[in-house]
Amino acid sequence: AAKQAGRNCWRFYKSSMLKAAYEKMMLTNRLRRGLERGEFYLYYQPQFAAADRRIVGFEALLRWNSSDYGFVSPARFIPLAEQSGLILPIGQWVLQEACRFARRLADSGQEHIQVAMNISPRQLMSEDFVACVRTSIEAAGIKPGQIEIEITESVFIESMEDSVHKLCQLRDIGVNLALDDFGIGYSSLTYLRSLPVGILKIDKSFIDKISSDEVQLQVVGSIIDLGHTLGMSVVAEGVETEEQLAILTKAGCDHIQGYVFSKPLAEEAAMSLLKQ
Ligand code: C2E
Ligand code: MG
Ligand code: MG
Ligand code: MG
Repeated sequence: AAKQAGRNCWRFYKSSMLKAAYEKMMLTNRLRRGLERGEFYLYYQPQFAAADRRIVGFEALLRWNSSDYGFVSPARFIPLAEQSGLILPIGQWVLQEACRFARRLADSGQEHIQVAMNISPRQLMSEDFVACVRTSIEAAGIKPGQIEIEITESVFIESMEDSVHKLCQLRDIGVNLALDDFGIGYSSLTYLRSLPVGILKIDKSFIDKISSDEVQLQVVGSIIDLGHTLGMSVVAEGVETEEQLAILTKAGCDHIQGYVFSKPLAEEAAMSLLKQ
């Protein structure tokens, strides 16, 4: 009987594994088809200067409305896109689309407002990445300083030298660089100094507890000071309450992004927010 149960157990294990693998494969296929069918679009979340509460930029965030699954969260499909390599054509599309939006901002007299976009490690690792960025900027007819590229600390695990080299090239063109989700990853002060990155984005998980936890508040204050010491500007992401906003402003945080000001918006809504 025990042997029988063991066998059933294995069968169950095998079938649930197969099911998960099958679902992953299906979703990946839909992802590929979604790109062809134009099911992706960008939302734009405004970033505000803490000092005067003016809009200084937008972060472009990828959205997928699948004809089969409806809205799928980036937390679910980005990892699959990364595993399958689809992040390369998808990321290319994001780059072009974000540059087009930057062009639209410039055309409406808002050239000073930056458009940030997220770049996967796999994209940065591809050989022609710098050329793709350059080409997209030229095709859109924008200034490199209008865009900002967000990377995470994970890009430095795979290939520190190559990543730093490419980021230096981008910086030299005039593209702004930000280190996203700062604090939760592979952090070392030694390497932070040597990165050609001008913007530090403090991860939401640090922001969440600053109004209730004194130690957490001190930690965030130290991150802000550290960023400034290294000549960087500091952005807090995931700021949800007025209380957090007041604390961060007092601590000298430069820019604020979060629901306290605005959720990510459709392009037209982003444009009309600027007119207010
Ligand atoms: P991220 O780059 O750290 O983006 C910030 C995430 O926090 C976004 O989630 C945003 O909607 C959310 N957020 C902003 N303010 C608040 C707030 O006040 N409260 C809460 N609860 N959430 C807030 P989203 O859009 O679901 O994106 C999740 C992640 O997916 C991004 O994290 C980024 O890592 C990735 N991602 C999104 N778009 C792209 C893309 O075009 N390319 C790549 N490679 N990754 C992307
Ligand atoms: Mg980001
Ligand atoms: Mg982030
Ligand atoms: Mg994040």
